Amino acid sequence: MRIDLHTHSRVSDGTDAPGDLVRAAKAQGLDVVALTDHDTAAGWPEAAEVAAETGIELVRGMEISTEHQGHSVHLLAYLPDPAHPPLAAELERVLAGRSDRLPQMVARLNDLGIALTVEDVVAVSGDAAASGRPHVADALVRLGVVADRTEAFDRYLAWGRPAYLSRYAAPLADAVRAVTEAGGVSVIAHPWGRSGRERPDADDLAMLSRAGLSGLEVDHQDHAPRTRARLRALARELGLVVTGASDYHGTGKVGHPLGVNTTDPEEYARLLDRAARAAEAARTVRGLVPPGVVRA
Ligand SMILES: [Zn+2]
Ligand SMILES: [Zn+2]
Repeated sequence: MRIDLHTHSRVSDGTDAPGDLVRAAKAQGLDVVALTDHDTAAGWPEAAEVAAETGIELVRGMEISTEHQGHSVHLLAYLPDPAHPPLAAELERVLAGRSDRLPQMVARLNDLGIALTVEDVVAVSGDAAASGRPHVADALVRLGVVADRTEAFDRYLAWGRPAYLSRYAAPLADAVRAVTEAGGVSVIAHPWGRSGRERPDADDLAMLSRAGLSGLEVDHQDHAPRTRARLRALARELGLVVTGASDYHGTGKVGHPLGVNTTDPEEYARLLDRAARAAEAARTVRGLVPPGVVRA
């Protein structure tokens, strides 16, 4: 059984339509795929329809932009009811923050002599829920300013580069609680991936585990073997579920093909078990409608 719990469609910064992503997952021989676009559930209906048709199990999820002590942390949320007001409000704030910073980012690039317009960016972001840095990067590629997204981030858009602007991110512990209340489960995406720093650290993860965090995405392309081993040991110690996934973005990110990392079926079963308990509480206590897995 092959399980990939982290992918992006063009509803955020991937390049496949949600339905095409589900078909590609089936063609790759995956048995389970999770759609986890940034801060939005907008791709769920199309993905669910195609999953039911093609016979692959779909986990409806999202990757929430959060922050913890000044560090950006990505939180994967699986199977929450996205209409639960505290969760919906956080997602709305994050998406608005991303769109709001676009004109300022374009102005910074204009100051550097690059003739980019907001319209150029919107033209490449298509049906995405918000226009973010990957879309600015794509527009710079289209203008011939850089060769690819990586160069755009390295030269202009990454933290500390001239066109970087901070934006709103949900406090991590609040986001974990909002996901649980909404009947879902949360897993920290590539916990020690991007920065190379071990933040959140072991103490933070213990605190988050008590606040309802369910798992850590250990097997991710951004983690070296030694990092994976340390995170796996920490997850065991804290009773957290260990996941593995591709972080697939279609052609938007090289080196992340579907199924490049997968989640152990036993760990997946533990995650679904925790989700079933959260969903039951959300239904009975709050009258919510968590989506559940689309079965093959
Ligand atoms: Zn991420
Ligand atoms: Zn991701």
